[in-house]
Amino acid sequence: MNLKSMTLPELTAVLKELGQPQFRARQVYTWLHKGVRAYDEMTNLPKSLRDTLAREYPICAPKVVRRQESARDGTIKYLWELSDGNCVETVLMRYHYGNTVCISTEVGCRMGCAFCASTLEGCIRNLTPGEMLSFVALANADVPAEEGRDRSVTNIVLMGSGEPLDNYDNTVKFLKLVSSPDGMGISPRNISLSSCGLVPRIDTLPQDAPHVTLSVSLHAPNDEIRNKLMPINKAYQIAEVLAAARRYAQTTGRRVVFEYALVKGLNDSQANANELAARLRGMTCHVNLIPLNPVKERNLLGTSRKEAEVFRKWLEDRGISATVRREMGTDIDGACGQLRRRVLMQREE
Ligand code: SAH
Repeated sequence: MNLKSMTLPELTAVLKELGQPQFRARQVYTWLHKGVRAYDEMTNLPKSLRDTLAREYPICAPKVVRRQESARDGTIKYLWELSDGNCVETVLMRYHYGNTVCISTEVGCRMGCAFCASTLEGCIRNLTPGEMLSFVALANADVPAEEGRDRSVTNIVLMGSGEPLDNYDNTVKFLKLVSSPDGMGISPRNISLSSCGLVPRIDTLPQDAPHVTLSVSLHAPNDEIRNKLMPINKAYQIAEVLAAARRYAQTTGRRVVFEYALVKGLNDSQANANELAARLRGMTCHVNLIPLNPVKERNLLGTSRKEAEVFRKWLEDRGISATVRREMGTDIDGACGQLRRRVLMQREE
């Protein structure tokens, strides 16, 4: 039983069993969300309670195996070791409006996308809500808040390893925890959930995690190309994914973001841009273009940034808003699963 995975009412019930009043539960909850590593840091709790909790409910606090900070842009990459020895990454990126952390939702992934390093060994296990919360809380505790702010992390993207909608219940619970006012209180509007397009889950998301921004990994303008890159397209084809995205935009009134990794010679021609623009026409959306990060194990090359700009212009000329994603932390294995992979390989050597 991991107290960090619990909502305040659940935690209150546990502490009630121990004969504790409700205000104690709130104190413990707030401390856990501050990223403390030991009950002895909870200085406003009686020593006897701290000891009981330490004995019966060990704190889930991933260990930092590596911490790398980019000399170029201040991006920080953490490699955590979980209680069972598995490793996952978190990246903290600094923007003018605040800091964004990119976290994982699973150890590995079972979606099998052709260009992705996280899926090479399949999905090892789901991450718990408490583990996801720890990544945000520990990064937040590690980086000092700017003046006038009470915390340094302002935004979260679920774009690390794993498919959040394939670990649906845990992800939804994490979103509830991380946005709760007694915890970090990060507004769901500042949280982006990225999915490869699990249509039934996209449809339930607005009621289970209101106001979260949805990103959909599209990566292709048609089924023929998407089938080559993403096995999930056999289950939910582009037309269904786009229809779900339209429903999401209509129900929530939010703009949907489409991610499109540009792969040299595969999905980056003018004809591809025209087809994409035609399919997205009339939808409240934005396209995030990412020149593919080549992964050693994968035989695909990225489009250059210059050509990505040209692709962006093609979309814009057809009325589709698009940007080319800024590269961050390139000197510290910033991209998708690269640090975890390198450390795992070294361990095996
Ligand atoms: N499972 C979720 C989150 C995964 S990672 C999803 O599919 O959206 C977040 C984004 O990084 C996804 O759009 C994913 O397709 C993309 N991505 C993965 N590997 C990449 C690579 N080598 N280069 C560029 N983008 C990549």
